[in-house]
Amino acid sequence: MTHVIFDPCIRDGTCADVCLVACIVAGTPEAVWPWYYVDPNNCIDCGDCVAMCPVDAICPAERLPAQYAAALELNARYFRTGPGYPSRP
Ligand code: SF4
Ligand code: SF4
Repeated sequence: MTHVIFDPCIRDGTCADVCLVACIVAGTPEAVWPWYYVDPNNCIDCGDCVAMCPVDAICPAERLPAQYAAALELNARYFRTGPGYPSRP
């Protein structure tokens, strides 16, 4: 599966700092994409990010709370048709 970030995300970036495969990125522009997002095609489900989140805003997809179900598609869309990874110099 994948891990998923959802609404309580406060954009502090801690999860992205610990992700070994760098599949978490800050949503850009923030006004349109207010959270950090996980690329479901690259997440290896290691779980390292979960305990690092200060607001419990990231979890395995199968444990995503029902009220945040839409976040699964939003995370995927960010990389499929949204801004995706930042361009590297
Ligand atoms: S579960 Fe692992 S690979 Fe997936 S987003 Fe978290 S740290 Fe990255
Ligand atoms: S650690 Fe939590 S609050 Fe911080 S960017 Fe990641 S999901 Fe968002």
